[in-house]
This record gives sequence, structure tokens and C-alpha cells, in this order.
Amino acid sequence: MAASEASPFAKTGGLADVLGALPQALARRRHEVAVLLPRYRSVALDSAVRVADPFPIWLARRFYPATLWRLERGGVLYYFVDFPPAFDRDGYYSGRDGDFPDNHVRFALLSRAALELVRSIFRPEVIHCHDWQTGLVPAYLRGRFALDPTFAGLRTLFTIHNLGYQGFFPMAVWTDLDLEASQLTMYGAELNGGLSFLKAGIFYADAISTVSPGYAREIQTPALGFGLDGLLRARADSLSGIVNGVDYQEWNPETDPHIAANYSDADLSGKRICKQDLLQTFGLPADDLNIPVAGMVTRFAPQKGIDLIRAVAEDVIAAGVKLVVLGSGESDDERFFRDLARRHPRSVGVWIGFDNRRAHQVEAGADLFLMPSRYEPCGLNQIYSLRYGTLPIVRATGGLDDTVREGTGFKFWDFSAWAFWEAIRYALRVFQDRERWTAMMRNAMREDFSWDHSAAEYEALYHQLLRQARPAG
Ligand code: ADP
Repeated sequence: MAASEASPFAKTGGLADVLGALPQALARRRHEVAVLLPRYRSVALDSAVRVADPFPIWLARRFYPATLWRLERGGVLYYFVDFPPAFDRDGYYSGRDGDFPDNHVRFALLSRAALELVRSIFRPEVIHCHDWQTGLVPAYLRGRFALDPTFAGLRTLFTIHNLGYQGFFPMAVWTDLDLEASQLTMYGAELNGGLSFLKAGIFYADAISTVSPGYAREIQTPALGFGLDGLLRARADSLSGIVNGVDYQEWNPETDPHIAANYSDADLSGKRICKQDLLQTFGLPADDLNIPVAGMVTRFAPQKGIDLIRAVAEDVIAAGVKLVVLGSGESDDERFFRDLARRHPRSVGVWIGFDNRRAHQVEAGADLFLMPSRYEPCGLNQIYSLRYGTLPIVRATGGLDDTVREGTGFKFWDFSAWAFWEAIRYALRVFQDRERWTAMMRNAMREDFSWDHSAAEYEALYHQLLRQARPAG
């Protein structure tokens, strides 16, 4: 596998969670798995061995003297390509002045490093690439290296974790990239006059997957296709969806060390203690624990439907609900929530920032979890919520629609404040019926989205790829 993030080495979102867990789950099924990552500044290599120094990478007639490191974790070999001028920086993709201007070179290097690894160090049957940062791997295999016997028979799977991030660059950067002339056209990596690494991955990979069946369908429509829906429809036979697993070692109310009391579906008593603790942590009165608490853990980004939350916030508060928000992102949203908490100090608790411990506290202590996403490739927080008996209210899109069902949570379809508010009102009515609510909590807690199941689906996909004859050229 090649990717730009993997937990615990580097994480900004769900991609890292997948790369931190899927390789191990495959290793448990007796596959040999190696993962290639950039060696960012934050990656500590204390226990790593230096495998190749220099680890030479050529790209567009330029020479990049990198170093390759390796460490083992859970039966998986993690390799790190170490080239400080490209990766030894404060951010992964952007700094204080926005996106790094040489991101195309940085991730072309990662893609070329993946192929050098395959050439001389770790020979797989399938290269599994993730998101735009590794989109050039299939492009190089079908372009620059199409006739190189080293790579004959190698299959590629390209997984889209979020179609919204396209790795889009002006056409002028082609001189840095080593793509073939034919690959710079619409029958290649060209998109709207520029170059899209994401499109390259979709166009050239032997198979494509996304992180839920629902999202695999939705990205074939103009509404959620980000301009690539036509290509995705053309490749529909090679496109599938596999829901992400979650790491139940980390997200399990029975053993979670971050929460005030542990609990299970058999004994829910600890959840009240968690609720009290959550309210105190977020500076809210904790005298009446029968009042419903709605929680959110999210990036403040348009994708997440923050505008719907903003539209219904006053009504939710007026209905007697306490709102607990953990998030960071767009400064306008941060300002809105800070202001909301200032105006409703007894009803709204807000923490701006990224804080894993507080994320666990919200999952455990809230009654309801709000996730009104505009689109959601898979989504993890709603799956955590299920396990913690915190019933999710979700918009029926992508992975949210695939993982929440009647009996474990609440869904609405129309992306509107009105539809969201109706779903909240319905959930609040059910909340008054303690017996029914508790039954739903137990249903939710018994759902199983463990990695072993998802890994078996990826395994079937790899086998299917290996059975297919590879098209020439
Ligand atoms: P996305 O990858 O689009 O951000 P996901 O739901 O797939 O959304 O994954 C988000 C991950 O990041 C989850 O593990 C979630 O707990 C975590 N997360 C998001 N925001 C925060 C935050 N403010 N503090 C702590 N964890 C967060």
C-alpha cells in the first residue's frame, strides 16, 4: 500500500485510520503487507532500521537522493521515504501560507518511491493506492513503465477516501512529473485544462474502490461526482464500495481508558457517569441527567453540513437539548460556536481544537450524535457512536446511510434544515420513551463494523484482480 497518512504516524482524518488498521487486519489473514509513507517531521524513527541509503529516485531527469527506513508494527512492514527537502516540514500538505506549492513533486516522489520499493525491496502482487497523493502510481505503471518487465503482472487498486480532494495542479507542472504526452490529455490525467492526480488514479488503476457502497453509487452522479462522475460511470464495472472497519480496541466503552466509567450493553449504568463527566468537562450544569445531550465531533468544513447545524441550533436549544461540540476548521464556524456558547452558557458547551480524549468523552457521554453531512464517503464517528450507545442522527448519504439503520439511529434524506429538524424532533420524542430508547441503544451497541469483516472484502477484491487478465499497454 502507498499512502500519505497512517495512524499513528501521521493523521488528519479517516484515511489515516484505514491505513493504521487495514494492513494489520490483512496480516492477520496471513497476507504479507508493506505500507509506504512519507517520513514527515513528526514521524519518530527510533525503532526503525535504515534499509537503503541512498534510496535513489529519478523523476523527470532529476535525481532525488532519499533514504528508506522500515519498522514493523502488528505484522506489517511500514516503510518511510525520507527526503527532508520534501517532507521535513511543519505540515503534511500545507503550511501557514496555504498548500505547499510543490505538492505535485512531493507526491510524485512518493509514487515513484513506491515503484522503486517494488522494484528492489518488496515485491507484491497488488499495489493498493489511496487518494490523490498516490494517484500517479497507476499512471506510471501504464505510462513510463508500461514495457518494463519488472512490473509485469502487477495489479493496482485505487481507493477513493474522499472525491472532494483532487490533487489538482496547473498543466504547466507536467515538466516535473514524467508522465507520457498521451497522459496529459483527457484520455489521461487532464481535467478542466489542468492535471488531476485523483483522476489519474481513477483512469489508470485496474480497479477502483471507495469506502462505502452508497458513496460508490453517489460519486457516479453529477451532484457528488466533482466533475469525475462521467469517468466513474464509464468505469462502473471496476468500481466497488467497502465500508471501513473501526478499531474496537480503541473505541470500546467496556475498556476505554479515556472515559469516566466503563459500560456495556448488558450494564449501561456507567453511561450516566460519563454523561455527568461530559457536562462538567464542557462547563455545563450537570444537575439534571434526564435532559438529552446531543454531541458533535467534526471538522468544520462544508462537507460536514455545519450550515444545517447552525440553522437549527437555536431551535434545538429552545427544545431543551444540551449541545456539546468538539471541532475545528473554518474560522467562521469556530466563531459561530464560540458565540453560541457565550449566549447559552447553560445549554451549549464548545471546545475548539483536535482532542482525542474529548472525542471519546463526547461519544460516551452524549445521548445523541449529530452528523448531517452534505456527503460522507464512510464516516467513522457515527460508527463509534453506535458502539457507545449514542444514537446518531445522520443524513442518509454515503457511508452514513450504509451504517445507520432504523432501530439503531435516525436518518433524514433531504439536505435541508427542515428535514434535519424533523429528524431531531422525532428522536426527541423517542427519547421520552425510555424503554424504546434503551432497546435502540442496545441494538446500536451490538452492531459490528470490525476490520476483520472489511479486510475479507478487500481480500476478495485483490483475488478478483489477480484473476483478471491485464489489458495490454
Ligand atoms: P473525516 O475523515 O472526513 O474527517 P471521519 O468521520 O471519517 O471524517 O473521521 C474523522 C476522524 O477524526 C475520527 O477518528 C474522529 O474522531 C476524528 N476527529 C475529527 N475531529 C476531531 C476533533 N476535533 N477532535 C478529536 N478527534 C476528531
